[in-house]
Amino acid sequence: MYFTKNNDFHHGIMFHHFHDDKIHPKSQGSISKDDFYKLIKFIGKKNILSANDYLEKFKKNKLKKNEVCFTFDDAIKGQIDVALPILEEFKIKSFFFVYTSIFEGKPDNLELFRYFRTNCFRSIDEFYNEFNKFIEEKNLEKFYKQQSSIIQLKRERHPSYSLEDIKFRLVRDILLTKNEYEKIIFNMMNEKNFSPESFHEKLYFNKKDLKNLDSLGHTIGLHSHDHHTLIEKLPYNEQKEQYKKCIYSISNILGKPVKNINTMSHPCGSYNQDTLEILKDLGIELGFKQMMFIEPEKGMKKINNSSLEIARVSHSLVMKTINK
Ligand SMILES: [Zn+2]
Repeated sequence: MYFTKNNDFHHGIMFHHFHDDKIHPKSQGSISKDDFYKLIKFIGKKNILSANDYLEKFKKNKLKKNEVCFTFDDAIKGQIDVALPILEEFKIKSFFFVYTSIFEGKPDNLELFRYFRTNCFRSIDEFYNEFNKFIEEKNLEKFYKQQSSIIQLKRERHPSYSLEDIKFRLVRDILLTKNEYEKIIFNMMNEKNFSPESFHEKLYFNKKDLKNLDSLGHTIGLHSHDHHTLIEKLPYNEQKEQYKKCIYSISNILGKPVKNINTMSHPCGSYNQDTLEILKDLGIELGFKQMMFIEPEKGMKKINNSSLEIARVSHSLVMKTINK
């Protein structure tokens, strides 16, 4: 039984990575075709609404507690190769939230880096060890101590992350500048003779994929342009640029008016009051978070606090429940 007292409110199921035996290797949190079938069965086909229905019912305040939708973030190619045929088989039309720098041939390195750290090391912890060697001069213990309350909070709110996962993300997002971080990873790639250029096609959607999803009746929504990991730290105007670029790029590729693009998810769940105002001004009617918790520090008073703060649970947590 999927629904319990902890999730008896409408929400999204958040998917990221899929693996197969061919092009998309297994990685941290990724699921296979068979897992995906299991997950649909576990949640129950009748409880999974198509994206359009979810949006329409949401606007009329008619969503029931046991109604969910499927959402796919980050325009990751495995979603097209592994998940899409199954979505079509079950006629589950879904939300696809994409960041648009990838369609300009200069994607943010997020996905590339993830591919590197999950596929070029024997384990993720080996990657963390190697990575930490590059920042030895940085007094990490002191940094973790300063961040201890954040670490504690993240442990509660991201039950699928290990302690090392959380520490790594804090170092990446707070301790290091983006430049410092990227320099380290490119150094590590060099050491492993890993050439980033050849991975683009394999990792990301192309414009044709996006048009195809749209013509099949799936819903394409915003996920910013560059996928900063902490968009809430950007000033108002830069945040606005991020979402404006994204909405115009999608509108261009799909040949659809901007007003028809009206859904989104927050990259890494990061937003503040500026973000919400910007998204409202752009006509966004539905936006998703990446957790099932109330964040009081963001001004949330309840779950699904506003139309731009709808809860989601990650597929890897649902799989954990299934495999218990
Ligand atoms: Zn994302």
